[in-house]
Amino acid sequence: MPDDTSDQQNIRHAVRLNPILVPKASDVLAEELRERILHGEFPEGTALPPERDLVTQTRMSRTTVREALRILEVQGLVTIRAGRTGGAFVQRPGGESVADSVALVIRGQQIRMAALMETREAIEPNCAELAARYRSEEDLTRIDAANEALAAEEDSLAEFLQANIDWHIAVATATHNELLSGFMLAISRAIYAATDNQSFVDAEVRRTTVLAHKSITKAIRDRDPVAAARRMKRHVHAYAEAIQEIDERTEIVIPA
Ligand SMILES: [Zn+2]
Repeated sequence: MPDDTSDQQNIRHAVRLNPILVPKASDVLAEELRERILHGEFPEGTALPPERDLVTQTRMSRTTVREALRILEVQGLVTIRAGRTGGAFVQRPGGESVADSVALVIRGQQIRMAALMETREAIEPNCAELAARYRSEEDLTRIDAANEALAAEEDSLAEFLQANIDWHIAVATATHNELLSGFMLAISRAIYAATDNQSFVDAEVRRTTVLAHKSITKAIRDRDPVAAARRMKRHVHAYAEAIQEIDERTEIVIPA
């Protein structure tokens, strides 16, 4: 027959608590400001109150306020300028923020070359199609400039690759869709790293690249979305196949 000491034992253990995670004060303040910035409460360029005012208003310590501002700066939501007219100024995240996050994923996950190429094939024909619909004269000027640089560049691999990337970004920019252009900006760094290979970019690759870019540009100029998409698809696919033939690397290394 059980004695009552074991019952008392059970009662003593009946109340159980789980570990409680207390958020850091600076994270809470950063979160509050981030939400308000993202909701558009403060227009771009708005100066946040000076540090000492933030301390008074929030009743948080100077260190906490400073740390919260630093978090927002790292997230690209404020820029901090030094000096008498300095302070923290609101910045709305744009394409660069998408690019930074995607570049981190590519590096952190050691994204395979094949995955990068599949992504390009998924996105770029649609970019070309939208560019053909929505391009402005300014977009065409940027696209043409990249083409000229590409055709003119005969020696330097780095400059050829840069002109190639510039053209692809110019096409994505012509979609006037910030997510698409931000995403292209992001994977363009990986494309650069993936194609930075003298033996791949030979005279033949250069010639076919220049021709492909020209014919896609023509479709974009002529506002022919179907041709633009079809030609871009062929171009990106051919590039992907050529890379896979000569390059057995499985990882892409993006320089920091
Ligand atoms: Zn290209």
